[in-house]
Amino acid sequence: MKRIAVLTSGGDAPGMNAAVRAVVRTGIYHGLEVIGIQRGYSGLLHEELMPMTLGSVADVIQRGGTVLYTARCEPFKSPEGQRQGYEVLRKHGIDGLVVIGGDGSFRGAQKLAELGMPTIGIPGTIDNDIPCCDATIGFDTAVNTAIEAIDKIRDTATSHERTYVVEVMGRNAGDIALHVALAGGAESVLIPEAPFSLDEVIRRLERGVARGKKHSIILVAEGAGSGIEIGKHLATHTGFEVRVTVLGHIQRGGAPSARDRVLASQLGAYAVDLLRQGASGKMAATQNGALAAVDFETVFTTARKPDMRLYELVNMLSI
Ligand code: ATP
Repeated sequence: MKRIAVLTSGGDAPGMNAAVRAVVRTGIYHGLEVIGIQRGYSGLLHEELMPMTLGSVADVIQRGGTVLYTARCEPFKSPEGQRQGYEVLRKHGIDGLVVIGGDGSFRGAQKLAELGMPTIGIPGTIDNDIPCCDATIGFDTAVNTAIEAIDKIRDTATSHERTYVVEVMGRNAGDIALHVALAGGAESVLIPEAPFSLDEVIRRLERGVARGKKHSIILVAEGAGSGIEIGKHLATHTGFEVRVTVLGHIQRGGAPSARDRVLASQLGAYAVDLLRQGASGKMAATQNGALAAVDFETVFTTARKPDMRLYELVNMLSI
């Protein structure tokens, strides 16, 4: 193995840069040439390749986003697109590829592996929606960003004695909402993985007011419904003053947390080690804190849920 490539794909996530840096530096440390592919699979098809030097990843570990840029690429979902991508890699003498992204990006990576290109995936998405790993890169930062916002909302909520509904990201996963609810002391959390009743939310709100609570915060995962609609429903049925905040893309930006930088550095280095050992079609992950290589096939066929004990805990602590 002489030359490897790295790309970031799908939604960006804080910590992707730390992972790219680790891939580049580990590769060079072991005497490999490392090529950066810009704009994910789209850049692969358009041959947006550039050599990465030690200096090309200097001063990026603390930066959010991805210096390689990211993109979504419909043509790569077709067998012709995948074949073309494979040919581009071969044409440039690439012997192995690291793909940093989410579930969709892994499906593309699996196709390249099947065509004969050794490919390793690194879970990078704020949503934490990938099974068989402790956490995805970017999740911890997104939770911390949302918590900062919640703490500020809590100040004004207390002063005005209002109810706040806060919608957080996560696509179809409730992980961000659940962790933010627990760490932010929310009254209720609505996630797609658990059935919920707005009547129960209202009962909790009214119980809180009856015992003198100054404010209430209700966390809504975007996959569970629209914060705006839920806010309207609660206002109509309680008569309370309800304000809605949709946190949106601020959760995708910002400097990665220390935890995300550590995870990204570990997984970047491990992905290169796996390629050097001849592995392919696997996700580099941590499981119970230890490095683990998980077949993409297992990732695709394993159902996942957030830790539902946390869900019980939110409800218990906000009694
Ligand atoms: P995130 O969840 O953070 O958005 P993701 O990797 O799941 O990340 P997607 O938009 O689903 O994001 O996928 C990124 C890219 O991966 C797509 O634009 C496409 O190029 C490729 N891809 C997705 N699904 C497939 C598939 N089934 N086969 C081949 N390539 C795919």
